[in-house]
Amino acid sequence: MSNDQPTRWDLSNIFPGLESEEFKQAFSDTSKVIDELVSCFQTKLAPLTDKTDPNVLNEALSEYVNTLNDTITHIGKVANFIYSFISTDSYNKLATRLMSEYEQLGVRLNNQDVIFKNWLSKISTKVDEIISLGGTVAEHEFALKEIIHFSQFLMSQAEEELASELNLSGASGWKKLQGVITSQLSVEMEIDGEVKKLPGPALINLRSHPVEEVRKKGYEKEMQAWKSIEEPLAAALNGIKGTVITLNKKRGRKDAVESAIDMARIDRETLEAMLSAMQDSFPMFRRYFQAKAKRFGQEKLPWWNLFAPVGQSETKFSFLEAREFILDHFIKFSPDLADFAARAFDNNWIDAEQREGKMGGAFCMDIPGTGESRILSNFDGSLDQVSTLAHEIGHGFHNDCMEKAMRTQLQQRTPMTMAETASIMCETIISNASLKQAKNKEEELAILEGMLNGDSQVIVDIYSRYLFEKEVFERRVKSDLSAEEFCDIMERAQKATYGDGLDENFLHKYMWTWKPHYYSAQLSFYNFPYAFGLMFGTGLYAIYQERGESFIPEYKDLLSSTGLGSAAELAHRFGINIRDKGFWEGSLKVVKQRINRYVEI
Ligand SMILES: [Zn+2]
Repeated sequence: MSNDQPTRWDLSNIFPGLESEEFKQAFSDTSKVIDELVSCFQTKLAPLTDKTDPNVLNEALSEYVNTLNDTITHIGKVANFIYSFISTDSYNKLATRLMSEYEQLGVRLNNQDVIFKNWLSKISTKVDEIISLGGTVAEHEFALKEIIHFSQFLMSQAEEELASELNLSGASGWKKLQGVITSQLSVEMEIDGEVKKLPGPALINLRSHPVEEVRKKGYEKEMQAWKSIEEPLAAALNGIKGTVITLNKKRGRKDAVESAIDMARIDRETLEAMLSAMQDSFPMFRRYFQAKAKRFGQEKLPWWNLFAPVGQSETKFSFLEAREFILDHFIKFSPDLADFAARAFDNNWIDAEQREGKMGGAFCMDIPGTGESRILSNFDGSLDQVSTLAHEIGHGFHNDCMEKAMRTQLQQRTPMTMAETASIMCETIISNASLKQAKNKEEELAILEGMLNGDSQVIVDIYSRYLFEKEVFERRVKSDLSAEEFCDIMERAQKATYGDGLDENFLHKYMWTWKPHYYSAQLSFYNFPYAFGLMFGTGLYAIYQERGESFIPEYKDLLSSTGLGSAAELAHRFGINIRDKGFWEGSLKVVKQRINRYVEI
């Protein structure tokens, strides 16, 4: 490679551009593709009942499943192509308009989905017999049985359709409002003798500013700023949680946790085992918080020092160096992983350049039907960004394993709990490698701080988010909650988890205002699956360290199968029992070693 600058991604092999004939054709075909799915259902499946001959049922159902896979492939390819423009250029009006048109199509697909679920539930007593006849239906056993399971929790067809359409102007509208209010928030603040107007994200970034005084002032400004918009946000949150409660009740769900664990493909026993291990780890994390506080001459951390940088990392990477570093360490783990990473770098699958109008953070998306993925990141040469890249490449590798195993779209559907397996593994490889190569104690400390800060967010903070959301759901059943009540619940949740790691006078009671996760009506409890992902990935890495190379083929097989079973079934392949607290404790022991070293330095 001659160019050493962070790359922009290239999707011209998918479609030449948004205005190309090829794309226009594919976009206008999306509606036709849904029509075909609907008509396939009406002509092939609708006339059949549980009295129909199983062979006929098997054949018709196979045809529908194939058509459904084709539909998801086509729609996903078009949607992700559009999204590649929106995520890198928020000013792109054409892409924004196309996406909005596309969302309307989503309602139609959703309606067909409900119709199919209902039909499948009506023949559910025959399903095992149909599956025993083999073919496409048998290959989709897990997906079909999951659909039948979810069909127990449906309202009538008319009610589901109304809910789906009203969602666009109800819960989804509340969510948009939260996005607009928080992104347009700006505050004036004096930094280095200069008064600056800071938008919300820049204000949040001050949490990791190197100067404590600036972080403290940022924290105070944050508290004022969130207070100024707490009323509309409380209304939005009440609207969304109220909607979820009403729909769950109508759908026969016991509570919001039940649908969340179903979507995560785990059960209550697993959740309890995991939460209990997390809770037991709080004293250990408090040692880390207190060791950090000590560096600032404090006994407990005030919120503004929670994300403060510690130590100093002088290592800077050019984009090419980042590529080499990642490849060098991946190859020791698995040549296939290194090959995949090289493919992603060399074919411009990565949009790493920082530029205006591009979204922050990082993500990876697959492009259905092409066997390719694309990765977005904002590369700044820091070690942190190198591990972010490694993390996202891990997601891409996961997609690649499923593609190579020829999994269909329905067979690829991976729950959040399993989705982070490969990414955490890749991130751990790179973080461990950089720890080993640290030039001095200051650098080692900076790397450890980065890792522990992430770990503590995923374990301690996420537990507080889980407690918050649980209490909100329980109380919202009876009435709306005031902004003050939301703040009170949040403060108590933080005290229960951070304990004497954080200074109780300076907590962050407004975490509920700006975290978008609370505002999703589709995904309640958008928190514990992350903790599952981190600890599951860490636990697997520990098994890899014990077993070495023999681990790799089974690991790749696991990645290719994350859409084919429950989390417990998949983990069982490695002798892991996720209902056993011991497994989770084992993962947390890895974190403990990091904390011990951190305290020691
Ligand atoms: Zn991830």
